[in-house]
Amino acid sequence: MAATGVSHLLDVRDAPAPTTLADNPLTFLTSLGGPVAWRVPGRDRRRVRVVTTLLHGNEPSGFLALHAWLRSGIQPAVDALCVIANVEAAALHPVFTHRSLPRQRDLNRSFHGPFDDATGRVAGSLLELIEASRAEALVDLHNNTGRNPAYGVGIQPTPERLQLTALFGRDFVWSRLALGALLEAVDTCPAVTIEVGKSGDDAADAVALDGVTRFFGADRLFSGALPPVRVLEMPMRARVRQGCSLVMAQQPTGSADLTMPDDLDRHNFQTVPAGSRIGWTRDGACPLGLFDAEGRDRAADYFEVRGNELIAHRPFMPIMITADAQIAMSDCLFYIVHEVS
Ligand SMILES: [Zn+2]
Repeated sequence: MAATGVSHLLDVRDAPAPTTLADNPLTFLTSLGGPVAWRVPGRDRRRVRVVTTLLHGNEPSGFLALHAWLRSGIQPAVDALCVIANVEAAALHPVFTHRSLPRQRDLNRSFHGPFDDATGRVAGSLLELIEASRAEALVDLHNNTGRNPAYGVGIQPTPERLQLTALFGRDFVWSRLALGALLEAVDTCPAVTIEVGKSGDDAADAVALDGVTRFFGADRLFSGALPPVRVLEMPMRARVRQGCSLVMAQQPTGSADLTMPDDLDRHNFQTVPAGSRIGWTRDGACPLGLFDAEGRDRAADYFEVRGNELIAHRPFMPIMITADAQIAMSDCLFYIVHEVS
């Protein structure tokens, strides 16, 4: 955990009484004004669990879950710390469409510092809060831009992280990427990111609320047998090569170096067989790079170009496919995972 010593942006406050919370989530959001951390007293006051939401302002499922859970008035098993982080980005019109405030860093890429700008102060303050609370577990709730089943992400597939994941889904993605995400910086308790599904999808909102209710409600989180959670190692990142253009369409457009089907995300978490067409190219060169943890390009092992088609050279399982060309260009198109036994 980073020792930041910066701000007290996120002082813990007692949660308001359920009856005083606006029943409309948007009214509730705009009433907050900035990042909040609320503590709800549990049956066992010596222990604390943390849920963080809205590190990304365009990923509302966790926020909607916390709002519904707070309004339910259900007493948690242990003290519940409810963090709603990037309230300002989320509330910016149109609501829930801004990942971050314009000209500010991505909060969930800022947990390795620096901690001296606006985003860094929120990140540092959140790390201090988690450490000071001596939490026994942390769940950080996110949405994807593509279709996905709910899954957990963590830095090691420990039994605790798999048990936290099992409250929400059946897959755990073992990430070795150093992105500056919250889950990489928390080392005082088991922490997972949960991607509950696509933003704006009712099913994703339901997964978040169901999981939060169980996370705060269980007397013991880490007892019993290991849950049936599949562990997927995330070794490679598929990116459009520098200087190449990308469009999403159902047929080759000829207007871009790479055309990918706009429903590619239906392959998320499924094996794409060898020989499958995954897109179209313009000039016979492979416009897609595939980079492993050491930065080596493995594209030639996985993809081949036949005529104007981009073909799977061997079977692979993609996850986190985005159907948004802009996000694909600025970040990555998808990851390729291997199942770990
Ligand atoms: Zn996110």
